[in-house]
Amino acid sequence: MRLFALIIGCGSFISVASGAAAQSGGAATLAGADTTNDPVQLLVNRLDLERYKNTIKGLAQFGDRRQGTKRNRDAVDWIEAQLKQYGCQNVERITYQYNPPPATQRGGRGRGPVTSPNGHGFAGNGPGGSRIFSDMREHGANNDSLAQPDPKIRAIDMEPTTPGERQEVICMKVGTKYPNEMYIIGGHMDGIGWGQAVNDDASGSAIVMELARIFSMPDVRTERSIRFALWNNEETGLNGAHAYVDQRAAMQGKEIPAGSGKYPEPKWLAMIQHDMMMVDHGPPTPDGKLSPEQRPGADINIEFASTSKFADEAMKLAFFWRAANEKYATDYPAAVGPHMSNTDSDPFKDLVPALSLRENERGSQIGGNWDPTHHQPTDVLTTFTDKDFMLGLTSAQTTLGAIGRLVGATVGK
Ligand SMILES: [Zn+2]
Repeated sequence: MRLFALIIGCGSFISVASGAAAQSGGAATLAGADTTNDPVQLLVNRLDLERYKNTIKGLAQFGDRRQGTKRNRDAVDWIEAQLKQYGCQNVERITYQYNPPPATQRGGRGRGPVTSPNGHGFAGNGPGGSRIFSDMREHGANNDSLAQPDPKIRAIDMEPTTPGERQEVICMKVGTKYPNEMYIIGGHMDGIGWGQAVNDDASGSAIVMELARIFSMPDVRTERSIRFALWNNEETGLNGAHAYVDQRAAMQGKEIPAGSGKYPEPKWLAMIQHDMMMVDHGPPTPDGKLSPEQRPGADINIEFASTSKFADEAMKLAFFWRAANEKYATDYPAAVGPHMSNTDSDPFKDLVPALSLRENERGSQIGGNWDPTHHQPTDVLTTFTDKDFMLGLTSAQTTLGAIGRLVGATVGK
């Protein structure tokens, strides 16, 4: 209860992520905003379900895009070509090494067990310190090629991973007034499980790419910068996001060369991750399969980490995202939860306020097998209907609305 009293006490959701944004004219106020002349609404209107689906299909052509394979590198090339075609600024590649110990020493899986103690002394039997109130548990990742019934998809996913150099693509919308500050929006382009990694995580990657496309349109200006990041190696332990933090944290806010007005790595204001954005079918069927329909109460789950260094700021930012959902989203509501876990926002959470957007709560719901397609051969295009894709587009509307306000977006010549 104490947390909620604190929020009401704040009075409004003004620019909680950044004191600087609050001082710069309150671009982030949502309540009572002029709807008819709202430039952010114009930008949200540029999102389109068919375009979003086509971007997902573009990623799905590379199968599960497992890191350390040609299909993964081809997908990185394709993403880079798309971002350049959109006119996104400063398209770059982050290069890093991924050399894990042999699988026998790792116990076979890149992820820890579902039942992990949270180390903070309160009950939690799911990821992120969550509690799962059922006997259902998510299954481990599929490693059996023959579990994929489609021979074409099986063939695309055949090459095994090898250690070595990895790359991931980033680009930027450069702010006109404060090019030295930015928000980071991410999704992970790699997947596993012998499917097409459609939901995990073409659905989140396509949100990042669609927002990069819209913010890069020639008539769009923003006061602050936005980083668009398509992380690699999420499935092996967030290695791509960690590489970015390792290489770029110390570069923040530096003008290079001095006096140029150019900031290769603006100061981070917050990081928002999009991971698994389409399936909210409720609990699985009694035999553990995906319930056939999107559930009537389907929603987007905005999560922050209550145990992170920036927990209070991240919580306020989460409610700001929820308010943006109420203002800009067309189809599905959003809910806020405290157990952000198991995705690329994690390496950022003790450096800046960090959020993840998901189809379900990662801990209590996905941990309780609410998405039986997770890391399975069923994570393919043919599994999903427009109601599923629309949950992803609704998340795109939510983040575009929130971020558009935070960066002071305007539309015009
Ligand atoms: Zn994922």
